[in-house]
Amino acid sequence: MFQKLVESLSLDTKKKTRNELDDYVHIGVLQAVIIAMQSVSPGMETLLLMSGKKAGKMMSIGSSSSLSEALEKAEKKFRELRIGIIESENIKEDEVVVKVRECMMCSNLANVGRPLCYIVGGILSGFIENEIKTGVQVYENKCVTMGYDYCEFIIKISH
Ligand SMILES: [Zn+2]
Repeated sequence: MFQKLVESLSLDTKKKTRNELDDYVHIGVLQAVIIAMQSVSPGMETLLLMSGKKAGKMMSIGSSSSLSEALEKAEKKFRELRIGIIESENIKEDEVVVKVRECMMCSNLANVGRPLCYIVGGILSGFIENEIKTGVQVYENKCVTMGYDYCEFIIKISH
């Protein structure tokens, strides 16, 4: 069943999937759904990260020869799909710091002293994993919900 759904899913921003309402949903709807999911159980954080990884794989086309190439593609795709604005810093062979501004998950939300963007970290790491065909670990270091005005993810390549 899921394979069939994935195949019918469109991530093509030039192709309309709805006629009357167009393809954009208000960001508050997405944030409400994910906040609600996280409020159900603390274990949801891992589930959101894992689900994000799967979704990130669906968004990638899977053919980068280096981490920097994968990051360039992620930056383009994140902007096109309006997930957030990515800036990569300190790109090393097996580690990179990725800043996300205007993140779809936490923009405008309150400082609650903890990161919130498990789904976005998942999308980012799943996208990169699929591009470079190597396992990737992600950790959100800074977030709007920790009082910063951007999110910061540490991405580590596991060899
Ligand atoms: Zn965040």
